[in-house]
Amino acid sequence: MTLQLEPMPDDWQRALAIVAHPDDLEYGCASAVATWTDAGREVVYLMATRGEAGIDTLDPATAGPVREREELASAALVGVTSVEFLDHADGVIEYGTALRRDLAAAIRRHRPELLITLNFDDTWGGTHWNTPDHRAVGRAVMDAAGDAGNRWIFPDTVAAPWDGVRWVAVAGVNNPTHAVDVTDGLERGVRSLMEHRAYIQALTDKDPEQYARDQIEGFARQEAERFGGRPAVTFRLYPR
Ligand SMILES: [Zn+2]
Repeated sequence: MTLQLEPMPDDWQRALAIVAHPDDLEYGCASAVATWTDAGREVVYLMATRGEAGIDTLDPATAGPVREREELASAALVGVTSVEFLDHADGVIEYGTALRRDLAAAIRRHRPELLITLNFDDTWGGTHWNTPDHRAVGRAVMDAAGDAGNRWIFPDTVAAPWDGVRWVAVAGVNNPTHAVDVTDGLERGVRSLMEHRAYIQALTDKDPEQYARDQIEGFARQEAERFGGRPAVTFRLYPR
């Protein structure tokens, strides 16, 4: 029998999802976000970049605004009205104090109880090498959760320190601990990925809807095995 995952905590009101690129949250996570916003919780998105280096056929100056628009549409579909972009350079985000400071400042401003980020392990599933941006941003999110609460670290941010982050949930990992039943959010999760039309069209010859459906329903079905047969989005949860 497959090890069963715990349900994600639901005694929280505000979450901040921090990832490197537009589309990172749409490969699964958005279905969970839809179920959370349905329940009246607030979720804010923060992108470290505008994803300007993500489309081979579009130069960065053109791709950045396209991807920004696609992300706003994706977010709106799952009940997220606040999407912020930092201007780190896509593909070459540096882990370091500049990034930690930007993230700590955002955490202090939004005061989330839950932080969400994407797999920052070396690989996806053990054999697909992860990108430097995902590794840098994920690790900086983990660190900034603590930085945000320490008034002596980055003391010059506009917002006051916030030590209220209770968990960091990491999506897309090989060894998750928790899951969300996304029965009600799955269709919006599919449509949310579909909004990344320019990105998907450059990536595959498949019809964008079919591509998005295969991806999102496929992940959720696969994860159902570990969550009582219910379609699920999974996370590795780090309590703080
Ligand atoms: Zn990415």
